[in-house]
Amino acid sequence: MVSKFIQFLRIAVTTAVLSAVLYTPVIAQDAGPERVITNITGDLYSFRQGRHVGLFLVTDEGIIVLDPTNPEAAGWLKGQLDERFGLPVKYVIYSHSHNDHAGGGDVFADTATFIGHENIAKNLQRPADDAPLLPREKLWDANGDGRIQESEAGGYIGTDIAPDAFARYDADQNGWLSRAEIWTARFGGGTVRAPDIYYSDYATISLGGKTVELNYLGYNHSDDMTVVRFPEERVIHTVDALIPNRMPWRTLDGSYLPEWIEWLYRVAELDFDIVVPGHESPGTKEDVLEQARYLEELQAAVVVAMAEGKSVEEMVDTILMEDYSDMLEYEYSRPLNVVGVYEMLLSTQD
Ligand SMILES: [Zn+2]
Repeated sequence: MVSKFIQFLRIAVTTAVLSAVLYTPVIAQDAGPERVITNITGDLYSFRQGRHVGLFLVTDEGIIVLDPTNPEAAGWLKGQLDERFGLPVKYVIYSHSHNDHAGGGDVFADTATFIGHENIAKNLQRPADDAPLLPREKLWDANGDGRIQESEAGGYIGTDIAPDAFARYDADQNGWLSRAEIWTARFGGGTVRAPDIYYSDYATISLGGKTVELNYLGYNHSDDMTVVRFPEERVIHTVDALIPNRMPWRTLDGSYLPEWIEWLYRVAELDFDIVVPGHESPGTKEDVLEQARYLEELQAAVVVAMAEGKSVEEMVDTILMEDYSDMLEYEYSRPLNVVGVYEMLLSTQD
């Protein structure tokens, strides 16, 4: 008997409408062509291409894929799944809409139903060519012309942070970036297939006697993030929003504070033993709590420094977060995290 169903529990959401929606560029990371499939536990596996990690769960009635990643990785994965298991992919779940994790799903479209959080729908819409800059981008727009020239590029496009970013973002090479061009670098290129089904707060997928839980716990690294929980395996997946033992990425591109901190504490309340991120290596609940404490202390330090009238340069020099110096990319990301928190707090001030 085919026991396949999707159960939705919809709860009225009263989410504050936040104005800041910003996105990380697709960074050309120092990733080699490394591809590997690793068993996590039971019938749950991770697949890695370079620095990007997705998951899949094998059942008697088909496979559930979490984050097809990009067209190249998804094509390779499909071949591997056919060869190793001979089963179709029945569901593709998106952790969030960023195209370096949600890209490439088309290859599974003939057999799979695609599922993601409802906020993905608006995030996949290309902004109008004359759409206004987002609040954090407006901080960089020194001449106030509603465009970002190379000399103005800050945050995640700043030339001192990502020297090649401006040229990559400037698709029409006219020397300035529009909101739509910035969006395209993160969501564009047509690699993200829109979900067939959107959920609001909580959903489960059951296939072949196994169950996967989709939890929406609020804003963090994005506003459309699902924490996928595999109850039998006691595993959760947190992609970019919680990477065990690693600093949050660069200038916390497109993120939300203080919501991200609250989200981390909510994640820690879930019932699991292993957390699998979308980069680096798995961890435990302790890693979730460490990240929550880090962001909480960092934000508090920036709030104090702002109240004292310190410049962002002074903040970078004095907010050292030394208790976290063992975390991956501390040397590199700590100063950028300070800038990111500062820009986020500044751009959401009244
Ligand atoms: Zn992301």
